[in-house]
Amino acid sequence: MALIVQKYGGTSVANPERIKNVAKRVAKFQAQGNQVVVVLSAMSGETNKLIALAKEIQANPDPRELDMIMSTGEQVTIGLLAMALQELGVKARSYTGGQVKVLTDSTFTKARILSIDEGNMRRDLEAGNVVVVAGFQGVDADGNITTLGRGGSDTSGVALAAALKADECQIYTDVDGVYTTDPRVVPEAKKLDTITFEEMLEMASLGSKVLQIRSVEFAGKYKVKLRVLSSFQDEGEGTLITVEEDKNMEQPIISGIAFNRDEAKLTMLGVPDKPGIAYQILGAIAAANIDVDMIIQNVGHDGTTDFSFTVNRGEFAKAQAILDTVKGELGARQVVGDNKICKVSAVGVGMRSHPGVASQMFKALADEGINIQMISTSEIKISVVLDEKYLELAVRVLHRTFGLDQ
Ligand code: ADP
Ligand code: ASP
Ligand code: MG
Repeated sequence: MALIVQKYGGTSVANPERIKNVAKRVAKFQAQGNQVVVVLSAMSGETNKLIALAKEIQANPDPRELDMIMSTGEQVTIGLLAMALQELGVKARSYTGGQVKVLTDSTFTKARILSIDEGNMRRDLEAGNVVVVAGFQGVDADGNITTLGRGGSDTSGVALAAALKADECQIYTDVDGVYTTDPRVVPEAKKLDTITFEEMLEMASLGSKVLQIRSVEFAGKYKVKLRVLSSFQDEGEGTLITVEEDKNMEQPIISGIAFNRDEAKLTMLGVPDKPGIAYQILGAIAAANIDVDMIIQNVGHDGTTDFSFTVNRGEFAKAQAILDTVKGELGARQVVGDNKICKVSAVGVGMRSHPGVASQMFKALADEGINIQMISTSEIKISVVLDEKYLELAVRVLHRTFGLDQ
């Protein structure tokens, strides 16, 4: 008998009909002799609605109260699925994150899971129940409800699978696996049968929202067998996230193209070129809990230099206000910002053994007249910052350039 954790995303539980379909699939797995724990998201669009509602009262919602509100979306779907299972004659019980208990730290709206108590779940499974758990939420040591960041029910699913030492964690979504790039942008994108953890981590961190990055980190750390599948198809193996690259196969150089629209760039011009400026600028940004992504410091001349970095678009205004203050302290000339940028990245472990990938990428973009604003590389990825208007074109061109259409 296997123990399987199945996570269903928002579109898969968007209405009662779809919830009934999920119930049928879960019932089928249980009837095959498996123990099943189901983790659910809120109905699609629901979390956005709850956030908008909060913002009608408080423009900058208090994070603790926002978590109180956002966590309700998942509470609806778990109750409905438990009922749908009962209607099929399957014993089922739903639990909130707090009831399980999924213990997190107290970083409201982006809490981290510290531990999971599997006692209740085990007992229910032994008694023949399907256990249905609310994704995206936990509880801190003081009993406050917390949430795990947008897309966080992926992480709930994988963390539960790790805690239960499940045989497999299946992420059911509206695509039948991980593709070479978002199929909504490039219809020619191809489904991958397997992708390595390393590549999936890069893809997720660079904007491929098919899996929340923390879920991939968790799966890698606790060796959870992780698979992405469609909740709308009965056939298909989906995409398996694997620990190692397949040594028997000729690895493609590039496995996928990721992109992120959610970026903004800030530049401080005419900064006195002396030790400590990067610390003074980024220290102030870090103190405000703003994550910085790419960083560029230009070669100085005439005793001054320019310093640029990117942040999440939602934190653009806050970061700009901080830089305006720091500018005065440093005696810099000017702060300029641009929140109409995007980041496009090519990812592949095959890059390690193939030089020339970067130049191939830059040439392809140049041929289309696309100007590159910033570049950053690691062993297995190359990212460029571009004007937002080039996003779709750049993704399509790179997808073709690296032979991913075939
Ligand atoms: P869920 O609500 O099930 O969690 P998400 O919307 O979070 O679903 O994630 C699935 C979506 O991720 C797909 O519909 C697709 O548009 C998008 N996506 C982005 N990059 C990729 C990729 N490389 N492969 C597959 N899907 C991707
Ligand atoms: N409902 C939450 C969100 O929309 C969590 C999730 O869907 O994974 O972000
Ligand atoms: Mg998701």
